[in-house]
Amino acid sequence: MKPDRYQDPYLPGHGDRRYAVRHYDLALDVSVAGNHLSATAKLSIEAREELDTITLDLRGLTVRRVLVDGKPSRKWRHSAGRLIVGLGHKVKAGGAVTIEVGYSGNPRPVPGIHGAAGWEELTDGVTVASQPQGAPSWYPCNDYPGDKATYRIRVGADQAYRVISNGVLTSTSRRSSRVVWTWEQREPMATYLATLQIGRYAVLPLPAPARVNGGSGGGNGGGNGGSNSKVPVLEVLYPSRKKAPTLKAFARQTEMVEVFTRLFGPYPYPAYRAVITDDVLEIPLEAQTLTIFGTNHLNPGWENERLIAHELAHQWFGNSLTATRWQDIWLHEGFACYSEWLWSEHTGRASAGRQARTHWDKVNKLPKDLVLGDPGPLLMFDDRIYKRGALTLHALRVKLGDKVFFEMLRAWTKARAHKGVDTPRFIAHAEGFAGRSLAAFFDRWLWRKSLPDLPN
Ligand SMILES: [Zn+2]
Repeated sequence: MKPDRYQDPYLPGHGDRRYAVRHYDLALDVSVAGNHLSATAKLSIEAREELDTITLDLRGLTVRRVLVDGKPSRKWRHSAGRLIVGLGHKVKAGGAVTIEVGYSGNPRPVPGIHGAAGWEELTDGVTVASQPQGAPSWYPCNDYPGDKATYRIRVGADQAYRVISNGVLTSTSRRSSRVVWTWEQREPMATYLATLQIGRYAVLPLPAPARVNGGSGGGNGGGNGGSNSKVPVLEVLYPSRKKAPTLKAFARQTEMVEVFTRLFGPYPYPAYRAVITDDVLEIPLEAQTLTIFGTNHLNPGWENERLIAHELAHQWFGNSLTATRWQDIWLHEGFACYSEWLWSEHTGRASAGRQARTHWDKVNKLPKDLVLGDPGPLLMFDDRIYKRGALTLHALRVKLGDKVFFEMLRAWTKARAHKGVDTPRFIAHAEGFAGRSLAAFFDRWLWRKSLPDLPN
């Protein structure tokens, strides 16, 4: 589909900026054995301009019925992954409308230039990891990261399975051999971060982190300025046939939450879960309030520990503070990668400065054909986004000094918690803490293909 001015140029054919979804109420009935989904989605929508149609994203599933403000509608059509609903009247800018969609089918991932994403059948379960284009594989949505909404996700599945979704589990109810799990995500969430994990999982609670001050000083943080954080529930969910002691790589997650809370400010959500599927996954994938790992990420050692740190850091950078346009993906991946280096420093391995030097040397040997601030859709998940993003942050830390840099980070996560972010806003925020223009600095790091020298 041709991109239009209402869509993100990095993900044409998805999303529509003319309206915002405020709340998704999803009721799903899942047959794991048949990979079948029968569902109702109720969307509370606010128009951003006068509208008489609403276009939603929903791919590979069959729409059974559509209701507009509770009344059955016949003015809808569904083709090429877009569900266009005629409202039957004009809704003014700021006006509200409710759309309910009944749908069913055999969900499968949505193909894309970086591979398929979204709903995926596992050997004995379901996983959903949607970045960037997979959300329409399982629910009708306004699929672009600038539209964050709250969610209630109710899922019925056979009692043999555990269902994990975003936010907090508010109830479970049994109906004969099936259990309905109700999850509520009360902090706004981007569509690609909504998830569903179904499998034969056992729960391993981790110790609660100590009540830590976001910004109490000490370590590499310095300064102050945060308030006491709430203590999140931490859990690891793992295949129930496996023994919990094999989870050594995850043992330090509580400490990670404490360290990142000190450096970045309060953990943004009431819970964090690491879900270990019973399958091998190429890479772990972040969702809001949880991360999905594969059985291949269980072993102790730096390679898995850095991934665990990386994914946890996304709860601040990417999930709470979400880039409103995909071109600013470095605001997610650069920050999560730099968090790996901060964890390395905390654990007495290489300091962040040493990590930066090592990776600068590696990146310097790679082609200089990427602009970090606007890499284009093909390169948006290139490893250089991660490493150059982290190098940019380290250079900024050296420029500002530790005290100001970490104060700036904590103020960033506080000011933009649960909201959208973009690169110009981050630059303005950093300049506020620098007390001077950083235009030349960011020009070198974000807008040129050449790799700037790393300051000492
Ligand atoms: Zn990442």
